[in-house]
Amino acid sequence: MRRDDFIKISGLAGLGVALMPTLSFVNFGPTFTRNQLIGKGKPDIVGNSYTSKMHKATKTAFDKMKAAAAKENINIEVVSAYRNFQRQKEIFEGKYKRYTKQGLSPDKVLEKIIEYSTIPGTSRHHWGTDLDIIDASVPRPANVLQPENFHGTGAFCRLKEWLNHNAETFGFFEVYTDNGNRKGFKYEPWHFSYSPVSIPMLRAYKEQIDVKKMLMEEHIMGSEHFSPEFISQYVTENILDINPKLLPWEI
Ligand SMILES: [Zn+2]
Repeated sequence: MRRDDFIKISGLAGLGVALMPTLSFVNFGPTFTRNQLIGKGKPDIVGNSYTSKMHKATKTAFDKMKAAAAKENINIEVVSAYRNFQRQKEIFEGKYKRYTKQGLSPDKVLEKIIEYSTIPGTSRHHWGTDLDIIDASVPRPANVLQPENFHGTGAFCRLKEWLNHNAETFGFFEVYTDNGNRKGFKYEPWHFSYSPVSIPMLRAYKEQIDVKKMLMEEHIMGSEHFSPEFISQYVTENILDINPKLLPWEI
């Protein structure tokens, strides 16, 4: 036995005695820290670029899915994967300043930003489980992340068709589905989530993160205008009104 293994085991045994009454109530599933859930820690992230950084289990499953699609001459390419808190903050605050300069009221500014962008600390891209994907085997349209590219005669309709039939077998699910009754973010046929990791992360997020408190603590520009009603609607619609297959059973 290596020395550090011995220390780990003996340390745990000691803890076991000390924490026995508490531990018996603990769920032994994966645990995540506050910072991992809000994009300030790296939850088992591998890769070294904006398009390759992702959770290691997501990466393993993605590589398998990519290899299977390649057999059908579809070249799945990631255009956005893990995105940290700071990057999301820059996107959000850039829009906040721009819309404020245009003369919109704070309420309108927020409404406009959250049509397409998340508030920093609330993006699923913070988890490394969610990927925006396209097909690199076809000529690239000017603006790749547009729903029309994935339907009808769109460049990525073959990819979309393939994903409809196969993505779930690799653990990947569309998040912002084309369901007229769904609120929150608009339809995103390019955004897929690796459910074996993202479901426990959403559960942990819901249990551990007080969104209003987190936004205040992180000094997000405009957070003084986040009313309790705005936050609770954002949580209900933008965070939780997603593909039901990605919701933890507790919700
Ligand atoms: Zn996305």
